[in-house]
Amino acid sequence: MKQQGNHSRHRWINRLARNTTLLLWGSWTLLFALFLQWHLNQAQLQAEQLRWARQCESRHQPPPDPSGQWTPWAELKAAPYLYLAYGTAWAAGILAIGFIGFQMRNNYTEIKHYQQELEHMATHDALTDFFNRNQMTALLEVEIERARRYGHNLGVLLLDIDLFKNINDQHGHQAGDIVLVSLAEILKNSVRTIDYVARFGGEEFLIIMPETRVEMALVSAERIRATIADSPIALPDGTKLSLTCSIGVAAYPTSGDNMDLLLNSADKALYSAKNLGRNRVVYCR
Ligand code: GH3
Ligand code: MG
Ligand code: MG
Repeated sequence: MKQQGNHSRHRWINRLARNTTLLLWGSWTLLFALFLQWHLNQAQLQAEQLRWARQCESRHQPPPDPSGQWTPWAELKAAPYLYLAYGTAWAAGILAIGFIGFQMRNNYTEIKHYQQELEHMATHDALTDFFNRNQMTALLEVEIERARRYGHNLGVLLLDIDLFKNINDQHGHQAGDIVLVSLAEILKNSVRTIDYVARFGGEEFLIIMPETRVEMALVSAERIRATIADSPIALPDGTKLSLTCSIGVAAYPTSGDNMDLLLNSADKALYSAKNLGRNRVVYCR
């Protein structure tokens, strides 16, 4: 059974969020390195100025000793606590950026999770997890357009549980819900991976079968009907309920070439199946 795939439109945002921490770490380290370079330059300049000033005080002094020249290492040794403080500031920056990045990623993942959950709720039925009516009509439009463009066939099955009200009345609404979930499981296992299944109404299911001629749609519908009739559903109290269903079949392009015609045709066929005594498959041209 076909499921809606995850959207990929957030992929680049996700990648950016993942790389932001690395980017900030790099920028912070570069900035710090530039500051250190500037600071050492200043220190060197001051040291050199001091050395020449001392030399100029007395003309008789020898020229400056090259071994006593300024080096970054000598500077570091001269003020170890200052550079330790700089190092600590750099490490604190790295930790802070890492922490903020971690929090940002957590928030983003959470938002994405809720967004996906919301999308799922808006397009699926809560009880059976099948597509809901809105989503299914959108998918049917797309599949009809695809069949029209490439000259393919499309089968549509409208399935309704027979006398479902009696189950609710005799065993309670909760038992009715269990029956719906069990029937959804049977349906899921009875269709191909490329078919779409939706809970179209209370106890009514719509199945879209792409690339399916009407003859094959009828064979599939009959197989589904027989499977449901042969699979008693067990209630928590041990009661086994035998269930039957009626199925109205329509097909593109034989029953109609747009969604309304196809759905009307399947509905008419289902109505006939009910009138003919239920537990049967009917096709309407
Ligand atoms: P028919 O063979 O003519 O289809 O008879 P029916 O009893 O199945 O049809 P009817 O339309 O008279 O009743 C459908 C029932 O389905 C009525 C409603 O209470 C029940 N139903 C609809 N949605 C749900 C649901 O989500 N859970 C439960 N338990 N029952 C539901
Ligand atoms: Mg019914
Ligand atoms: Mg009904």
